[in-house]
Amino acid sequence: MAQFTKAEIRQINDCYDDLVREVAKRFDGERMAKVQKAFDFANSAHVGLRRKSGEPYIVHPLLVAAIVARDLGLGATSVIAAILHDVVEDTEYTVTDIKNMFGEQVARIVDGLTKLSGEMDSRQALTLRKMLMTLSDDVRVILIKIADRLHNMRTLESLPPYKQLKISSETLYLYAPLAHRLGLYTIKNELEELSFRFKHPEEYRNLFYQLHDQEGKRNYLVNQFIKPIRERLADEGIECTVTHRLKSMYSIWEKMHTKGVTLDEIYDLLAIRIILKAKSAVSEKRQCFEVLSLVTDIYPPKPDRIRDWITMPRANGYESLHVTVMGPQGKWVEVQIRTERMDRVAEYGFAAHYKYKGGISSENELDRWIERIRDHLANSEHDAFEFLDEFKMNLFASEIVVFTPKGRLIKLPTNSTVVDVAYEIHSDLGNKCIGAKVNAKLVPPSHILQNGDQVEILTAENQTPQPVWLTVVTTAKAKTKIKDALKQQNHQHLEMGKEMVENAIRDLGGPMVANTIKKIVGHYNLNNKEQLFSQVGMGIIQLNELEQILKKKSKNKFVKYWDITFKRKEKLEADSEAEPLKNIDKRKPFILRENPDAIDYTLAKCCNPIPGDDVIGYISAGDQVIIHKRDCHIAEKLLASQGENIITAEWTKFKKLSYLTRISLSGFDRLGIVSEVTNIISKLHNINMRTVKFDTHDGIFEGDLFLYIHNTEDLQQLIHQLNKIKGIEKAARVENLYD
Ligand code: MN
Repeated sequence: MAQFTKAEIRQINDCYDDLVREVAKRFDGERMAKVQKAFDFANSAHVGLRRKSGEPYIVHPLLVAAIVARDLGLGATSVIAAILHDVVEDTEYTVTDIKNMFGEQVARIVDGLTKLSGEMDSRQALTLRKMLMTLSDDVRVILIKIADRLHNMRTLESLPPYKQLKISSETLYLYAPLAHRLGLYTIKNELEELSFRFKHPEEYRNLFYQLHDQEGKRNYLVNQFIKPIRERLADEGIECTVTHRLKSMYSIWEKMHTKGVTLDEIYDLLAIRIILKAKSAVSEKRQCFEVLSLVTDIYPPKPDRIRDWITMPRANGYESLHVTVMGPQGKWVEVQIRTERMDRVAEYGFAAHYKYKGGISSENELDRWIERIRDHLANSEHDAFEFLDEFKMNLFASEIVVFTPKGRLIKLPTNSTVVDVAYEIHSDLGNKCIGAKVNAKLVPPSHILQNGDQVEILTAENQTPQPVWLTVVTTAKAKTKIKDALKQQNHQHLEMGKEMVENAIRDLGGPMVANTIKKIVGHYNLNNKEQLFSQVGMGIIQLNELEQILKKKSKNKFVKYWDITFKRKEKLEADSEAEPLKNIDKRKPFILRENPDAIDYTLAKCCNPIPGDDVIGYISAGDQVIIHKRDCHIAEKLLASQGENIITAEWTKFKKLSYLTRISLSGFDRLGIVSEVTNIISKLHNINMRTVKFDTHDGIFEGDLFLYIHNTEDLQQLIHQLNKIKGIEKAARVENLYD
């Protein structure tokens, strides 16, 4: 161990001792000996190697193993695999070596982890797919992978900003939803908080200080709220702990962001948690409901806001009783009621339920979930990215429960429709669905179901899947099945149309050459021959003008020339916004300069960033830099899928160029409010108005301002002034310029 200093060797041994202390309580001597063997082997394999932070490499697998043991509660096989997880990736040793030393099972897990390790390539989606394939083989691979990611997130500080951005984006996109789905709430929260901190450092800091400022007041209010509950529960002889929990910073930020609200406008900032020491004589469910009843005696509940996850636990095993009540300060507060056992499951997910010895026992929710993934993987022939999107959609969706006429219970994501249920039951039922009877009432296929609905699917023999269904379904399963069916239909139409077109040309004695088809395509203003064939096949195009079309001469040469030059000019204009760039140094922030003659970037149309916005750059296929707002949802996707093409970016001072920006206004109408708004804008010399739209109805006033503006500083100033106008409730920037 000559390569490490004494202090470093001490650090390694300390890490290992911590791990030993953690597992010694649970593992017998034989297992402990195997752990020791794994440590000795990994330690010598990684000797001399360091992480980016400068620490000895072995510290990382040891800390991952500690997470696996402590937070996930997994057994010796997993702990050993975690210690060895980077050996094959980073050293000369092979999976066969691991197999010879530690057996088949450990080797298989390490192999799975190795395949998923290292720098994720641009085909992140493919990687996930691979990962999920592995998931159905052995859940431990994915659990250890999550632990690995957690430790990497904890040590993200030592990487350069562009790497932080990429890794935290991946984590938000992929690992946090996975952890959520596996019921690992604590880990999911930590992954999200860390990602938030590294992905949006500025906003993270702002929110952190804002929350910190309010802490004293918040604690006072919480104690006031909790006191009567504590007293009442004590009177009834109910043993419990009452704690409170602030919503995570990431979910606060997400809510502020998606709903466009300020911190003060978030009403469920706090949750109160009552954790019961359950008595053995009565069912846990009854005890929780008793507490619910006592709480709602003190504070009135919000109608329809009681969530019973005990009678029907969530798919990831979560059990709890939630109620939102009106607190003494006139604010809604969520109260969560659960037993100690339920709390453990809530914190540690399935790991608290099951031991992972070999395979998993059947008949549990996790199995059913994995079953569904397997189903999805088997059915999906789509582009890996599309698949990922759908899969993710299903990961995060909250659930409703509906019943078949025979009382079978079906769990579905919120906003599921009749079509979703039909496909959930059977694909034939989906393909032929014409509607349903929901609670004995007739509804169309697009009808959105409510929790507890009873659904009887109605079918017709001649029904076929409709393209519009793709826009109404929520489950990945239905989406996949519909797409498959449509693809098949389309293929049939195409074949049929091709035959019809060819027959028609032959009947007219026309030449069967590419040019003939081109003429027809041109006549109907279509893009290509496939489009022509499928529209003919579907009966949209009748071909009764075919004779005239074939007789028509093609355009004269002048028109053709004009067409080409004009089109080329158009194309040039579209592309000339930014020159292709070579040699971008990704490690340094890309500097955005205000020099109209040499602009080497394009501003994305999806989020319309303006100077001063927190932005990132995406290097497109043509080596152009496209600037997105950091929180743009398109950028989020690019970050997760093509992280290696993302660079950080910084603005210089912008004072000359102006950018179109939109501000929406709302408030109470009063005489002169419009002229006051326009007055303010016209007085500002650094802002130019393009269009202004105002609308009033029932005393409510709404406005849309389209302005040319230099930078965010000017914009903030204007918004500030607008907000001061009497009657204006809200003036805020709108990202989308064209909805
Ligand atoms: Mn690792």
